[in-house]
Formats: sequence, structure tokens, C-alpha cells
Amino acid sequence: MSSPQAERFEEFTDPVDGTRWRIDVAFADSNWQCLWGNDCPGILDVAAPELAQGCCSAGAHLLGDEEAMLIEALGLTLDPARFENHGEAATNGVLREAPDNLDGGRATRVLNDACIFHNRPGFSGGQGCALYLAALDEGESPKDWRPTICWQVPIRVDENQDGTKTLRRWRRSDWGDGGAGLAWCCTEHPQSDGLPSAYVGELPVAVSLRSEISGIVGPEIAQALHDRAIAT
Ligand code: SF4
Repeated sequence: MSSPQAERFEEFTDPVDGTRWRIDVAFADSNWQCLWGNDCPGILDVAAPELAQGCCSAGAHLLGDEEAMLIEALGLTLDPARFENHGEAATNGVLREAPDNLDGGRATRVLNDACIFHNRPGFSGGQGCALYLAALDEGESPKDWRPTICWQVPIRVDENQDGTKTLRRWRRSDWGDGGAGLAWCCTEHPQSDGLPSAYVGELPVAVSLRSEISGIVGPEIAQALHDRAIAT
């Protein structure tokens, strides 16, 4: 298990649908771990762990109409005890047009400098994503209640011109302005002085994020990544 600075790609083919994936195995083998709730500095131009926003400072870009309809409906039906901004959601909705740099479509609204679904520290119903908390209340997977980009991060999928797909970590350059406005980028290592590294997990990413990876590349490739990470 390692904390890689460089991407390293290997190709895998899904035996079910034949999709050819180029996968950053250096990241899959690494000990990256999400720091949400553990002083994540966030994605702002200054490190702000006290805000406990993680990557919720920006609204989530939604994949398509079906996902937009789901999130819109959830925004109107979440238990107010779990959703700090439920009043604003009922009045003005939870979605907006996505910024230009996100290829059009729709995104969740940003309210008071964070995603409308982000419950702030001190909220009695629990801080963090109201969708995540509500899914757990119902005994369901938060993956089924949240925008795709939220459960995939920091994994990113690219569709390549040759018909293959790439699974890799988000790079600083993927963010608006090429990432120049980010004080911190959780997939980078090492970090600037005084900022934490997220390469502190006890398990390889292919193990700790197996469910998420399986949801992207399918269970067969997720199993192969899991097995090779354990053997590494
Ligand atoms: S994915 Fe990265 S930026 Fe987002 S909460 Fe986790 S560590 Fe922080």
C-alpha cells in the first residue's frame, strides 16, 4: 500500500459488457482516505476545516434529468428534522442551472456558501449531507440518495474517444480555473506545509471504496482491483 504522487494506468475489461477501462491502479492501491468529519480543509481558496464542508462548498453537478428529478423530489420530502434548509428548499427549490464549466445541465443550489443540502455544524439533526443522513435513517445506502458525483468523489470517470473509459482520481486541474483557487486538493501528496495529507488510511482504496468502485466498473473489475491491492 502506498501514497502515490504519480498516476499509473492498467487496462481491465469488464467480462459482462466488454467495456475496456483504463484504471489508475496507483490510486486504487494507495491508502487515500476521505477526511470528511476529520478536519478536511475543504475546497475553498483558504483551508477551512472549521466549516466542516469538505467538498460540499460547491453544489453538486447532476448527471441527467432522472437524477435531477430524484434530488428535486428528495429536497421536498426530507424530514425537516434532518434538513436544515428545508424551508428554503420548499420555497425556492434545491436545483439551479449548472455553471458553464460543468458542461451545462443542473446542479444543487449553493446557499450561504455551501450546497443547500449541507447541514452546518451545530444543527440538531446532524451536520453534513442531509441526503446522506436521511438515507441512513431509512436503512438505505446513501449511494442511492445522493448525486452520483458526491458518492464517486474523489474518483472521476472519463469517456475516451476510442470508446474506452478511464477511472482515476480527481486532479487539481479538473477544478475550475485549473485548480488555482484551491488551497488544498485531497488527492495530492505531499501537501503544502501545515496542510494534512489524505493518504493516511489503513486500507487500500480498492478495499475501502470497493462498493463505490463496483458501482462504476462493475463487481468483477472491483474484485480484481481488491485482490491485487491486498496482494500489493
Ligand atoms: S473527498 Fe476530499 S475534499 Fe471531499 S470531504 Fe473527502 S477529503 Fe475532503
